Amino acid sequence: MSTKIATLAKKLDMKTNVLIAYIKDFGFEIDAKNKTIEDELAEIVEDELKQVLKKQDEMDTAEIYDEIVGQEMEKDLIKSQRKQTAGKEKTKVKKSKEKEEVKTEKKISTITETAAKKDAIEIEDSITIKEFAEKTNISAAKIIGELMKNGIIANINQEIDYETISIIALDLGINIKRKRSAAKIEDMMEGNLSKLLYEDDKSVLVTRPPVVSIMGHVDHGKTKLLDTIRNTHVIDQEAGGITQHIGAYQVEKNGHKITFIDTPGHEAFTAMRARGAKATDIAILVVAADEGVKPQTIEAINHAKDADIPIIVAINKIDRPGANPEKVKGELVEHGLQAESWGGNVIMVPISALTGEGIDKLLDMILLTAEMEDLKANPVRPAVATVIEAHLDANLGPVATVVINTGSLKIGDNIIIGPAYGKVKRMQSDRGKHLKMLCPSDTAQIAGLSETVHAGDILQVVSNEKEARQKAIAIRDIMKVKNIFSQALSVKDLASRIKSGNLKTLKIILKADTQGSLEAIKQSLDKIPQEKVSLKIIHNGIGAITESDVMMAAAGGALVIGFQVETPVLATKAAEKHSVEILSYRIIYKLLEDVKNLLEGLLEDEILEIETGKVEIIKIFFKKKHDYILGCKVTNGKIERKSTIKIFRNNQELGKGDIFSLQKVDKKMEEVKEGNECGLKFSTSCELIEGDTLIAYKLEKKERSL
Ligand code: GDP
Repeated sequence: MSTKIATLAKKLDMKTNVLIAYIKDFGFEIDAKNKTIEDELAEIVEDELKQVLKKQDEMDTAEIYDEIVGQEMEKDLIKSQRKQTAGKEKTKVKKSKEKEEVKTEKKISTITETAAKKDAIEIEDSITIKEFAEKTNISAAKIIGELMKNGIIANINQEIDYETISIIALDLGINIKRKRSAAKIEDMMEGNLSKLLYEDDKSVLVTRPPVVSIMGHVDHGKTKLLDTIRNTHVIDQEAGGITQHIGAYQVEKNGHKITFIDTPGHEAFTAMRARGAKATDIAILVVAADEGVKPQTIEAINHAKDADIPIIVAINKIDRPGANPEKVKGELVEHGLQAESWGGNVIMVPISALTGEGIDKLLDMILLTAEMEDLKANPVRPAVATVIEAHLDANLGPVATVVINTGSLKIGDNIIIGPAYGKVKRMQSDRGKHLKMLCPSDTAQIAGLSETVHAGDILQVVSNEKEARQKAIAIRDIMKVKNIFSQALSVKDLASRIKSGNLKTLKIILKADTQGSLEAIKQSLDKIPQEKVSLKIIHNGIGAITESDVMMAAAGGALVIGFQVETPVLATKAAEKHSVEILSYRIIYKLLEDVKNLLEGLLEDEILEIETGKVEIIKIFFKKKHDYILGCKVTNGKIERKSTIKIFRNNQELGKGDIFSLQKVDKKMEEVKEGNECGLKFSTSCELIEGDTLIAYKLEKKERSL
């Protein structure tokens, strides 16, 4: 049996054309010849539209129930209960409170029971309506109808995100749960750790211990400090076993854990950053009180600054006769670190790694800094971790020490690390203790990998062995053609990234032959206008370009610029390996011109708004939250589907809106010209009324120069 569209339109007080467009957009079939739809669909369309239009009724019912139960959650349930019964047994919203109460409670329990009876259906981040229909055995039409009730107009092949599906699943009495999709391969490829780490719902995050790296000049006492901390603040005295340097360890201070990366120096820190890892939360800068600031001290400062992590200065060797902590503080001011006792905000703690003096205070300061940084992670998801150290063990095969970024890692978990995969067979701490589970910021050496991995690689838990193998193979294939783990950018990469708006700062490492030329170049670079794209010298110095310069560039996505300096073979090789670009100059003006040209090429284009037409809202056919279906007339120029729209009332701008579809009668259009009527599916946070004017713009790019 079928229903005539015209009859249905009349019933709904709607224009036939609009109703047809509406029905088609839901993906429902219309018999074109007879202008009819099947009875069942007609019933759904009628009910859904009535529901939306009678929003007022919904409010009443919800309020009544709110009064009785007074809880938000149940309020949502009553809405879903109403939606459930909308098709056949309509809710009699005008009934008395008592009847409503009994009925509502009954239905809530039915919904809950139905939901509980069914096994939860697993859904990833999104699903098409068609797939959802197949999984649930519910007709696509019914799902589209439910979405519609929630103000979402979608067709059968449209991807719906998990959050939306979860709302209508409740309405439909279906139990669903999120299937945590493993990070996409592209994210792994890009070394895009941030995407893997920060997708968590804020409410599930808990505080995690800080992960600390120790940096500074050679012989200033980094190794000694790491050893002293480890020996004086052991977590588990009972653990036994001989202490092994596995690359990281954990200590406890006043019941709070701290994880230390047990590879002193900024090389390890930088190598990890170069691979996209973010393993460190806080940097401890060790400066010997009798020697003061040295070249590697400055490099370490610049590394930490570029990584945007807090620095705590440990002024070491205060037991020595020539120790002068105040002099060290003075020298550090020149490099942008001002001690709190000097009116600045950098924590500096005088210590002796040899005698242990000041170590407790240093640990307290680490915990304080961690508290201020508000370090959080989700302990209940599959782990994402960073490899700190890896090698081939004669007995265990490939092993890797990892620090957990988020989630928890358990024995038996299937994992991938770059192109390697495996199952976690054994987890051991630096004191030889066997662990069953690692939580955020915990560290252990793991065994069970298919091959040796590298420091800075990202570990990720996947759901099964098959997935682990498939992903590892995919990563290996891509690695064959691309140096996927380098953060380094060629001049061309930089130009295109900034053009696409993805990079707003051009970072450089500048090396020159003399202090005089270095200062002259810095001053001239400073004068180049930097309104849109800024230039940042993340490190500078006198002398040849070193491997360390190249690694810093690789870690920070910077260019290395040398003026009248050599590039030794080792640095050239490192640059090739990490795809870092080194630009060498003999003439200052050429250097400046190139940087200026580069910045000019990088400048973002100016976006101009060009008005293309005016449209008047004749009728508002549909409104739900921010979504509208509008009947309009083009009074001037033309409106395009891709137009940017501003809304005006009495020549006053109200705000902006987005066009989802543009139609003329029942045909989808790319543009509609002056004098014609059109239908718009439109979204705006403004409250529209009939008579409002929409002004259509197109956006044009205009290249800018310095
Ligand atoms: P690193 O190169 O920064 O790792 O420096 P080390 O930890 O290897 O220390 C270099 C030397 O300084 C070693 O002989 C240490 O014993 C010594 N040292 C480290 N810390 C102290 C300290 O606080 N006081 C004294 N007197 N010597 C120290």
